[in-house]
Amino acid sequence: MFVNRLTCWHTGKPHDHRVPHNLSAAGRPLRVDYDLDRVSTAVSREVIEQREPGVWAWRELLPLPLAAEPVTLGEGGTPLLRAEGLEREIGLGRLWIKDEAVNPTGSFKARGMTTAVSMARHFAATALAVPSAGNAGGALAMYAAAAGLPAHVFMPRDVPLANRLECELAGAKLTLVDGLINDCGARVRAGCQKHGWFDVSTLKEPYRVEGKKTMGLELALQLGWRLPDVILYPTGGGTGLVGMAKAFDELRALGWIRCRNPRFVSVQAAGCCPIVRAFEAGLDEAPLYENASTLAAGLRVPKAVGDFIMLDILRQSHGTAIAVTDDEMIPAARDLTAATGVCAAPEGGACLAALRSLRASGFIQPDDDVVLFNTGTGLKYAEAFAAIPG
Ligand SMILES: *Cc1c(COP(=O)(O)O)cnc(C)c1O
Repeated sequence: MFVNRLTCWHTGKPHDHRVPHNLSAAGRPLRVDYDLDRVSTAVSREVIEQREPGVWAWRELLPLPLAAEPVTLGEGGTPLLRAEGLEREIGLGRLWIKDEAVNPTGSFKARGMTTAVSMARHFAATALAVPSAGNAGGALAMYAAAAGLPAHVFMPRDVPLANRLECELAGAKLTLVDGLINDCGARVRAGCQKHGWFDVSTLKEPYRVEGKKTMGLELALQLGWRLPDVILYPTGGGTGLVGMAKAFDELRALGWIRCRNPRFVSVQAAGCCPIVRAFEAGLDEAPLYENASTLAAGLRVPKAVGDFIMLDILRQSHGTAIAVTDDEMIPAARDLTAATGVCAAPEGGACLAALRSLRASGFIQPDDDVVLFNTGTGLKYAEAFAAIPG
């Protein structure tokens, strides 16, 4: 095992990685730190290239001890597709779509759950719980089923039907809550205290972000150990953004890449854009976004515990944050799908709408290499597409 310690992302205080944790002593996310010198003697770029693609191809950069079996459904190893039709339309030299729709459970939440559930089982958790805007709950239901552990999922009552169905089919205990994901989070905390469930909320345990990090690792490998100039990423809780930035830092420390970070673009829904507001206001943390509302379930996160990490990443990378209305993102999801054959979720559509406006504003130039994340499959969003017909 190559983990050195856990470090509070806010105070820098070390925590013991040999016992299970949720937040740090200061109530902030914990970061997994590796002994990268030992990683670089144990494995090389060439060895990883020979392995079957997927999250667990990066075993030495993941927290699960080598002797333990991961709980896996075959996640990761997703395609990076050139979108030449869109390049011509938008006026870009190179645009790729990283298509996370093809993951188990139809979204990139699978990447985080494979590592979180593997670690929870390793630490002998007896039951798992999560608040979810949609896809995280479905993914936990499936990975808990694979692990043979009970799962308790709390979702807003108006969550997409597909996410409820996932929980039902996998035998998870689903509670529908009148409120948003933060209200669900309060119910999870109460249940964890009362029943001893383990909380796998976004960034409230250290390991989901480690799985999501593999999006960045894969991207570097697929681009020939280079990084793009710009990454557009639909941001809710922010594990993807935080994970990719961490991945690039680790690859640089290993000497596997030399280039600087891409400019990260955080794309949010106009009806729920706490990060965009905080970025524009120059704040270090993002206040709760009142009356959050959007058809893009994955973006309906009014308060994120990792807000300060995200805002730092956006600024350090000379990136930006941009909001897109539902009336823009749903047609853009249709355009993305029709132009590429990648079945785009509204969250993926939001990235295309953001790309168009950032190209028009000049933030993105014709010679920039751009990667757009389609984080989930449109097939789980029948209600959203019906609400704004084509
Ligand atoms: C959860 C989710 C997001 C937001 O992801 P974070 O990493 O939590 O910011 C975006 N798109 C989809 C489809 C999601 O399920």
